Amino acid sequence: MSNFIPFTRPSFNQETIDAVTEVLRSGWVTSGPKLAEFEAALSTYFGGRPVRCFANGTATMKIALQVAGIGEGDEVITTPISWVATSNVVLSVGAKPVFVDIDPLTRNIDLDKVVAAITPKTRAIMPVYLAGLPVDMDHLYSIAKQHNLRVIEDAAQAFGSQWKGKKIGSFGDLVSFSFQANKNLTTVEGGCLVLNTETEAKLAEKLRLQGLTRQGMDGMDVDVLGGKDNLTDVNAVIGLQQLKQLPTYQARRAALAHQYFDAIRTELKSASLENLKLELPVENFTDSNWHMFQVLLPLEQLNCDRGQVMTELKDLGIGTGVHYPAITGFTLYKNQGYKTSDTPMADRIGHSILTLPLFPGMADEDIGRIASGLVGILKKHYKN
Ligand SMILES: *Cc1c(COP(=O)(O)O)cnc(C)c1O
Repeated sequence: MSNFIPFTRPSFNQETIDAVTEVLRSGWVTSGPKLAEFEAALSTYFGGRPVRCFANGTATMKIALQVAGIGEGDEVITTPISWVATSNVVLSVGAKPVFVDIDPLTRNIDLDKVVAAITPKTRAIMPVYLAGLPVDMDHLYSIAKQHNLRVIEDAAQAFGSQWKGKKIGSFGDLVSFSFQANKNLTTVEGGCLVLNTETEAKLAEKLRLQGLTRQGMDGMDVDVLGGKDNLTDVNAVIGLQQLKQLPTYQARRAALAHQYFDAIRTELKSASLENLKLELPVENFTDSNWHMFQVLLPLEQLNCDRGQVMTELKDLGIGTGVHYPAITGFTLYKNQGYKTSDTPMADRIGHSILTLPLFPGMADEDIGRIASGLVGILKKHYKN
């Protein structure tokens, strides 16, 4: 279908394509001067804090855990509504993810429930800013301070988001971003970590390249076990170009999100569906970077499931996504004793959440088409 609207699509301008071509022709394509330039630009963006880049967001978070010294026997408090990478990296360093239920309004970890989950083994809190909406950062860091915990922010979706006028990443402890193709700023694949000190940054650098240390021209040693998680110059130049485009992309996302609220409310009203409990996101146009626009379907009021709604939207040329089912329902996690019933809000939202298309390249008309398509389907399946 030619006018199919995917749930997301990256934007690359001609300048980006030219910059990639230049790197490919330069003779040096892997980590080199462009990576250094990108890291310096990111550091400036985050108010001068040290920043290092990695091959993807997953590697970035794993290295953050290693930098914080988290491993065997440690517990990390996190949310069940995230991309599974969040808790997979906790398992991969030998630690145990402890899932705390979510706040149904923000769909982020419920900070009021965090303290009850702290044990003598708890070492860190790993919040996720779903769809780019941050948690209450004052509350988060007051809990961390009081209980002497590290914070590893999974800000994968929150590049460009803010808290009280400050950029996410420009303050706090370890802050991890993803530059995967669907994210607001992409390097195709990639990620970056904002750290506290140059000492932490040096450790992160070692961990991304086999644990290698260099002294002088021919001195080489390995003193910790590292992996192969470096970002290439090809990816880095894409990031440099995206950083220039970010304010434009950001404004477009916010404008489209605004239109969604208006269009959906108008459609519900004209369909006389004011009693339909379709839940919209928190309408926060200062803090969120509008990474996604997600609604909660009122499944109890419908005679069909989410899959049916998605299929019918697809038939109208509208792509949607599910971000995310509760991690505790996955076989790997069930086999380790986790239960979706332990976090009932996450369970409910994991079943009803639906991501509508939102990306800078969308046309204004697309929003109206999606809102009327969605409301039409909901009206058809409304039980009354
Ligand atoms: C994208 C994402 C990640 C992982 O990033 P990758 O670059 O895909 O490895 C982790 N957590 C969240 C919440 C994400 O959205």
